[in-house]
Amino acid sequence: MSVPDKDWNDWHWQLKNRLISLEQIEQRLFLIPDERRGLMFAAKEKLAFSLTPYFFNLIDPFNPDCPLRRQVIPRAEELVSMPYEMMDPCGEDKDMVAPGLVHRYPDRVLFLVTDRCATYCRYCTRSRIVSGVGSQKLEIDDKLTFDYLKKHTEIRDVLISGGDPLLLSDGRLEKILRQLREIDHIEIIRIGTRVPIFLPQRITESLCKVLKAYHPLWINIHSNHPKELTLEAKTALEKLADTGIPLGNQSVLLKGINDDPQTMLELVNKLVRCRVRPYYLYQCDLIQGTHHFRVPIRRGLEIMQKLRGFTTGFAVPQYVVDGPGGGGKIPLNPDYVMGYYEDKVLLRNYEGKIYSYPMDQQAKGEENEDRQSEAGMGKYK
Ligand SMILES: *Cc1c(COP(=O)(O)O)cnc(C)c1O
Repeated sequence: MSVPDKDWNDWHWQLKNRLISLEQIEQRLFLIPDERRGLMFAAKEKLAFSLTPYFFNLIDPFNPDCPLRRQVIPRAEELVSMPYEMMDPCGEDKDMVAPGLVHRYPDRVLFLVTDRCATYCRYCTRSRIVSGVGSQKLEIDDKLTFDYLKKHTEIRDVLISGGDPLLLSDGRLEKILRQLREIDHIEIIRIGTRVPIFLPQRITESLCKVLKAYHPLWINIHSNHPKELTLEAKTALEKLADTGIPLGNQSVLLKGINDDPQTMLELVNKLVRCRVRPYYLYQCDLIQGTHHFRVPIRRGLEIMQKLRGFTTGFAVPQYVVDGPGGGGKIPLNPDYVMGYYEDKVLLRNYEGKIYSYPMDQQAKGEENEDRQSEAGMGKYK
């Protein structure tokens, strides 16, 4: 099939021509039986299948284990759930204060503005409400949401997510941003989007013009593998960066996709070349039917150790697990402290060499005094 550039580069064309059925994809690549079953069942009852022509072209048609292919083409494994897997692994429903508005942390909220994405990630943490085929429907109610935001003056940070907020029209997005900016206590706005990876054509001049009017605005993208950072994606990211938007990336640690240090190092180095700072590396949420993607935390920590010290400090993301059931993000860190002693702390560097940081008696005494005053006990002399 030959597509004129004008169409290919038009995000509406990309959306209109998404591959959404078993038949459409089967005409273009040879599926393995597990993929056929995934498309027949999981895509019907769990999370819809949808793939932009742009992203389809990045997939290796001859390799079912292609790291991009595994993220977006359903598999029969999705139909199997472990006893500890959940519909709502991050416990968002219990913190929902208005339809689509999750208020968990003291000063910031998660605002879900749509249930649609350009392409669906098979490990989606919100598959219960995203894509329209799951068990729940995402309700959206602007009035209830903005009333809550106006009333709660402690909210200084609004994270717009979904679904993918950049699938909304420029007009709808502008309206949301404008209404948020009318609220004085909201200091920063953030958008979470995978559009630069699945549909880079969406990053148009007119979109950038809309976004530019609502600074301070931050964007976090979602990239898991260096192959996703094509010239098109890089160009889209540069446009956003040139609009003055600080860019971060959130990855999910996925088995057979990015669970080795070399791939992760390549990913973070490529991200910073695209002017994106790695922000979080997520332990895969305990969403139903994602067992085949899960990597042990111990392995995740090994990968983190092979990043720290081996690349630019700010290219190293924070590894986190979203506390199952609604604990929020919990940082996971390799331990570099080998032991605390009377007179020293023993430390290990990135190469595994041991260093001693001395603490003399006087310093220890001052430290104790500091602790006492911090605890509100005051000093006594
Ligand atoms: C992740 C998340 C946030 C934002 O967390 P940060 O650590 O500030 O990036 C806010 N609310 C909810 C419910 C979240 O899951």
